[in-house]
Amino acid sequence: VTTVALKDVTKVFRDGTVAVDSINLDINDGEFMVLLGPSGCGKSTVLRMVAGLEEPTTGAVMLDGELANELPPRDRKIAMVFQDFALYPHMSVGDNIAFPLKLAGVEPAPRGERVTDVASALGIGDVLERRPSQLSGGQRQRVAMGRAIVRRPGLFLMDEPLSNLDSGLRAELRAEISGLTRELGVTTMYVTHDQAEALTMADRVAIMRKGVLQDVGTPTQVYNRP
Ligand code: ADP
Ligand code: ADP
Repeated sequence: VTTVALKDVTKVFRDGTVAVDSINLDINDGEFMVLLGPSGCGKSTVLRMVAGLEEPTTGAVMLDGELANELPPRDRKIAMVFQDFALYPHMSVGDNIAFPLKLAGVEPAPRGERVTDVASALGIGDVLERRPSQLSGGQRQRVAMGRAIVRRPGLFLMDEPLSNLDSGLRAELRAEISGLTRELGVTTMYVTHDQAEALTMADRVAIMRKGVLQDVGTPTQVYNRP
């Protein structure tokens, strides 16, 4: 999957919470789209609907122009990274990154080669034998990214991936994530409440407030509106 279109998407949870209210948004092939807004405005819910983890109450999520629920999950090639990393603690770094390839039935030799490539691109080539508990926060987030991109996804979803890191590391990883996604040409949806992240990373920013999409445009456009 490389393009996403949200058509009048609304999500009402069972308790009556309207998390997302009639959103229309197109994400183009290779684009880095940041969803920006305060906590609770519905960003994660949008991402979870694109990932297929939640169903819209009304409206449609289109992936490559097709209704998302008509595309089997294994054909979607969507990768997701969260703020809490969710690495497998009992596996080495190398095995963590290799795991999606193993599930996909990739043979050990090409698997090892791919893991080495991804790890060195992320600057963690020298810690492949360690356990996640023996890494810094920044290294752990790099492992999580490595595991996400190792199968060459067409669409990369990130939910506040840097919010648990200190500010120096955040700035460093911001630049790395921007560089990596553009190098891979992967379409990206990136959720954050941090304006600086949106400003430095986005091709376009979608600004949300209370479930509603307030504005969409390049950082220059949205920050210079009258
Ligand atoms: P954000 O990612 O912008 O912080 P969320 O998408 O997580 O916002 O949440 C949007 C709103 O929906 C919030 O009011 C949140 O409490 C509510 N919400 C999220 N998930 C559920 C759920 N499973 N059931 C009920 N309400 C939910
Ligand atoms: P975020 O950090 O993205 O805003 P939250 O911490 O609000 O997410 O929510 C974490 C988890 O709890 C999510 O899976 C979300 O769907 C669920 N959740 C959030 N708000 C509610 C709610 N009011 N009722 C039930 N589940 C919720």
